[in-house]
Amino acid sequence: MAGRIRSRCEEARRPEEADLILLNTCTVTHKADREARQALRNLRRRNPHALLAVMGCSARRDQAPYRAMPEVDEVLAADQDLAAFLDRVAGPEGGRGHACVPHFGDRTRAFLKIQEGCDFPCAYCIIPSVRGPSRSIPVEVVVEDFQALLHVGYREVVLTGVNTGEYGKDTGFQGGLVGLVERLLAVPGRYRIRLNSIEPRALTPGIRSLMRREAALAKHLQVPLQSGSDPVLRAMRRNYRAAFYEEQLRALAEEVPGVGIGADVLVGFPTESPADFDATLALLERSPIAFVHAFTYSPRPGTPAAVMPCIPQREAAERTRRVRALGERKSLAFAARFVGRPLPALTLAPALDRGRALTENFLHVGLPRPEEPNRFVTVALRSAGSEGLVAQLVEA
Ligand code: SF4
Repeated sequence: MAGRIRSRCEEARRPEEADLILLNTCTVTHKADREARQALRNLRRRNPHALLAVMGCSARRDQAPYRAMPEVDEVLAADQDLAAFLDRVAGPEGGRGHACVPHFGDRTRAFLKIQEGCDFPCAYCIIPSVRGPSRSIPVEVVVEDFQALLHVGYREVVLTGVNTGEYGKDTGFQGGLVGLVERLLAVPGRYRIRLNSIEPRALTPGIRSLMRREAALAKHLQVPLQSGSDPVLRAMRRNYRAAFYEEQLRALAEEVPGVGIGADVLVGFPTESPADFDATLALLERSPIAFVHAFTYSPRPGTPAAVMPCIPQREAAERTRRVRALGERKSLAFAARFVGRPLPALTLAPALDRGRALTENFLHVGLPRPEEPNRFVTVALRSAGSEGLVAQLVEA
């Protein structure tokens, strides 16, 4: 979207200086909806004169609250509305040069959408009803977009989607996600590809083997767990059980040494008893997990779980706190394994007087002095503690 807009408009440095402000929204939680409305009020305060428009999943799911806001000038209820809206307010695409090259700020890491929507029936999730069924972006288009990103200077491309493991199932593309990644890896150049998140059942031997043998595929994967208790997984309508999840992670960690595995956990689902919660903690504790992303359950109207009685909010918040604390401990323990060992990394934009780099297994490390961003380097981790991960450059 930013690429579309930049081909017609000049980018303002601050909201106060903009003629047009477009807010893209998320509706995955109740909090995301609320934050979108707060952001709109804040933007209007900062700029009373700009044309302020809102779009994205929250606006699509329920336009009424946005239409009722005096701060908002336009509500774009469908992605297709964006092109017509921009034609009307900002002139034709390409008016200012190259059309549609995505822009992600510091030009080191780009996000490339390969798939949209989801066919799964998770009881708590609003996404299938807002984003529709799974649709894959055609292979040729993904390859072309990938090349365009490399051409403008990105070195790391993160493949994203709602359910990327479903890639190709709707279009009949035989190779699936593995086939797509192989096609991308055939593109010449120095780059790194990162898979974003993959459902436990989609973590096939093919993915593991690709990750083991391809140096240009980052050794990092996010695998949603949601709960470590089978009764809760069943109530959530997830299509695997805890033992299967554990087995998948064990195989991944064994076949891809050093892999950084992340897990999403949904804490406080209505049927989650203290014993169910303990089962989740125990699974996280004994699994080769490096990063834990904990979310507190909140009911989304229109989902099957929304009619179930919730557990007390304070109890859910306390459980989330405990999962996060465990996650922080696991992250530090994971990083500590790499102290003194060389790690391939990509330099990021420096922060103040320090350099930053992201290793292939997703460790965000600090460097003693600012380094030119967007270079592949080798770093050695010197320490991993509560002050963060401190590394030094061993090879440019
Ligand atoms: S697989 Fe993910 S996006 Fe799809 S319904 Fe389940 S939680 Fe939602």
